This record gives sequence, C-alpha cells and structure tokens, in this order.
Amino acid sequence: MDSGLVLLLVITALLVGLAVGKAWERYKLQEGQWVDRRRVRQSPHFIVGLNYLVAGRVDLAIEELEEASKLDPGALELRLMLGNLYRERGQVGRAIQEHQTLLQRPRLSQMEHANVLLCLGLDYRRGGFVDRATEAFTEVLKLAPDNESALNNLEKLQEEQRQWQEAYQTRHRLAAIANPAVQTRSKTILAFLEHELGLQALAKSDIPEAIRRFTAAIELHTAVLPAYLSLGDARLKQGDATAAATIWEAAVNVSLDRAYLPLERLEVLYVSQGRADRFVALCERLTDAAPREWRARAALARHLASQGEPTRALESLFGALEHNPHALAIHQSIWALLSSLDLPRPLVARYIEITRQSVFYLDPHVCTRCRYRSTELLWQCPQCHEWDAFVEERITPASDVESEMSPGPNV
Ligand SMILES: [Zn+2]
Repeated sequence: MDSGLVLLLVITALLVGLAVGKAWERYKLQEGQWVDRRRVRQSPHFIVGLNYLVAGRVDLAIEELEEASKLDPGALELRLMLGNLYRERGQVGRAIQEHQTLLQRPRLSQMEHANVLLCLGLDYRRGGFVDRATEAFTEVLKLAPDNESALNNLEKLQEEQRQWQEAYQTRHRLAAIANPAVQTRSKTILAFLEHELGLQALAKSDIPEAIRRFTAAIELHTAVLPAYLSLGDARLKQGDATAAATIWEAAVNVSLDRAYLPLERLEVLYVSQGRADRFVALCERLTDAAPREWRARAALARHLASQGEPTRALESLFGALEHNPHALAIHQSIWALLSSLDLPRPLVARYIEITRQSVFYLDPHVCTRCRYRSTELLWQCPQCHEWDAFVEERITPASDVESEMSPGPNV
C-alpha cells in the first residue's frame, strides 16, 4: 500500500475514534435509551439552580437542580452536588443516603469513587459520626493519596480527638504535597502539634521526650509561645531554674503583644531566687517598649502589692488605666487597693479624674449592619446609612450559641 494512503487511513481512524469518543461523552445508554448528557447542562433549571447557589439560596437551588436532574438521573456530578446541598441544609441523613446510593453504582472510576467517598465523609463528619468519617477519609486516601481535602478533614478529626501523633503524621503528608505558600502555615501547625505531643510526654513524666518535642516546636516556628512556656516548665521539673528563666526570658522577646504570657512564671521564679528587683525591671522595660501594654503594668502592680507596696502598685495601675480604661480587671484591682488603703481622698480623686478623661472610650452604641461604633444613639448610620440600626452594646459572658438560640429546655 502506498504510504499516503496508510496515512490517510490512520488519520481517518483517529477522527472516527474521536467522534465516537465525543458521542460517548455526550450520549449515554440508560435503561435502553440514549440520553443526551448535554441536556442537563443546557436545561434552564440547571442554570437557574446555579444562580440560586451563587446567591446563597440553598432551598431554591435544590428545587431547580432536582428538576434538572430528572433529565438525566444518571448524572453523577449533579447527584453529588445535590447530596452536598442537603448536607448544607442540615439534612445529613438525606445527604448520606444520596451519597451511599452513588457509591453502589457499578463502573465508577477510581476518581469518581474517591469523590463520592469524600462527600460521604463530610456528611458523617457533619453528623458527628467520627469513626465513620475517619474511615471514609482514610478510604479516599487509599484511592487518591494526595487528596488535600481528605487530609485536611482527617487532620481536624484527629485533632478533635486529641490524637496528636496521628494528626502530626497527616500534617506531614499535607506539608509534603502543599505548594510553597502553604508551607509556612504547615510549619506553624506542625509546631503546635509538636507542643501538644510534648505536653502528652510531660503528663507521662517523660521529661526528656517533652523537652525534645518543645525544642523541635520552637525550631519549626520561633513564635510558638506555648512551647517556650512548657519548655521552661519542663526545665524547672528537671530542677534547672536557670534554664527555665532563660527560655521564659526568650519568650518575652518573641512578641511584644504577648510578652506578658511568661510574666507570672518569671515572677514566681525570681521571687523564689530572691531576685524580685529583676521582675520589676522586666515589667518596666516592657512598659517602656509598649506603653499601651497594660498587662505588664498590671503584673507589676500585683507584684508590688504582694511585696507590701500598695501606693507604687496603684501608680502602675493608674498608668494602665490611662491606656486601657475599658479593662475591668484594672478597675477591680484599683478598688481593691484603694479599699485596703482605706480610700485615701487624693488617690480616689485621681482615679475619678483619669476615668473622666476616658469618656472618649465609651462608645457603646453599635450599628447592627456594619459594626460602626458611636458614643451616642444615632438614627442613621454615618457609615452604611442604614436607618434605626443602632443597639447598645452590652458585654455578657460568653455562652453556648445553641443554648442562646433555643428558648429553653423542652418539657
Ligand atoms: Zn452602619
């Protein structure tokens, strides 16, 4: 045969193959009938459903997508999506049923199988079925070892159950496949997980292992403050007070905003070593470096009061109050000290003067629409222009959202 003809035959065969493939992609034999898969995507119900989805109107999206699904009940992605929407709407049972049905379909590709299992895992997680969710995500990872969503969900489940070792391994897998932008975040998470593992070792009195973990945490992420605190605790348990002081002093320098965290530990340590002046100097250094940092002033005041110097303590608290008049803890400490001194008139007068100047900070009215704050009640918000949107802000203790929403126990 002449080579031109062979070439032509090959090209023709290729084209026919392509056309058949296209047709196969488009049409599908279903219950003896050829179904045009494109019909679903071109159906107005599908488009309207997607629009509702974009607008966040889940109920209406479900209604439209269910209509679209009738055109091709076999469309896997659509049923998968509908299952997810039922889950979002809180119908976990329905979502599980939907996804389990999909799992029983014959001839699922490996990728489809993994996707359905992932959705099922999310259903289980939402429904609080921890073991089944863990199982589903583990199965997904057997089919698709680099599935980031499965790894992320698995890690969260392990963290919730305080399975720190398992979570640590999962995060390692995530770090190995993550892009460079996520690597820093992964290191931070690994550092916190190392810290948790160290705490577990410390609870078992395995101090060398705890120290190894805490040190590794700091090496991974220098700003992981709990590791500094715990490393000092472990060193102190070993009887090495100098090493404990060194690591806590290092923690003070990690971040000015959180420099107050090791102060209580350092105070106890310095006082026990007869170096109380060192604590005073440290607090004063922190206050100079960040005048608005009231916690160092409050810590200094507590220390001075315990050392029998209430007047100096009050001075420190007045300094704190000037910068943070809203901190109730400061007011309480001031009144405790003023009472212990039998309410000396000049000091009480100073207190009143400082709080009078801080009326500026009293802005208890908040726009419910944009969170704009105002000292007085406004009828129209100057920021978002909404009418009658201001409520008076009240500080209440944190409470369970659910218990707040339900009217009370049903009897
Ligand atoms: Zn507003």
